[in-house]
Amino acid sequence: MNSRKMVIAGNWKMNKTRVEARAFIEQLKLLVEDKNDCDVVLCVPFTDLELSLNWTQKTNIKIGAQNCHFAESGAFTGEVSAKMLKEMGVAYAIIGHSERRQFFAETDETVNLRLKAALAEGLRAIVCVGETLAQRESLTTSEVVSMQVKRALQGVRNEQMENVIIAYEPVWAIGTGKTATADEAQQVCALIRKIVAEMFGLQSAQNLIVQYGGSMNEKNCKELLSKSDIDGGLIGTASLDAEKFFMIIDSACELA
Ligand code: PEP
Repeated sequence: MNSRKMVIAGNWKMNKTRVEARAFIEQLKLLVEDKNDCDVVLCVPFTDLELSLNWTQKTNIKIGAQNCHFAESGAFTGEVSAKMLKEMGVAYAIIGHSERRQFFAETDETVNLRLKAALAEGLRAIVCVGETLAQRESLTTSEVVSMQVKRALQGVRNEQMENVIIAYEPVWAIGTGKTATADEAQQVCALIRKIVAEMFGLQSAQNLIVQYGGSMNEKNCKELLSKSDIDGGLIGTASLDAEKFFMIIDSACELA
């Protein structure tokens, strides 16, 4: 337990049409009505953003995007800028999810550029880092995660750190049903905080929200969230079901 307010964020990935999104939000809205001890975020596909923003007005659910481009505008077919998201009223953006790195050729460099663009617009960014199975098996997790954090945060200003969340998401745990043990996750999340302390000072590190992501669900969330350096979760599969997502939110609030 610590004084940071947990952030429970759902990542719907490429799931839910507008009709499905509406049904989900209507259900979740009622469930989380009095859950104010943690922050609830839903990162939805671009096509669901506008309506999700409308349906969550005056609720405690915040809406996020799953990516944003680093340029303000220009010839980047298929991309959306941070400025466009901000203008819509979007509050959060996931940056550098491992699926973006794996399938859309994102690198530490583009993650850094996208992060700086998101922060420049005042968005709250959830920056994803994490090792692959091969890296884990070659015992390079700490090295890989340290490097990803340092490269992602290069050039970020101290005062912008209040809008940075880092999600530790071991790639081998995403969508696989496998999770890091709570102790393993805690160890890496503590390392992330240590790196942030080295780069930005103790205060920024103490305020930093570090999430765990990778097959977090309603059953394993309590153990993970009770660790001192884990301040929330980034949740894929279990965020597609309003009841299951709510149970994670409920656990986070209970631990507050
Ligand atoms: C994710 O997409 O960030 C994620 C953690 O997915 P899942 O919960 O399905 O592993």
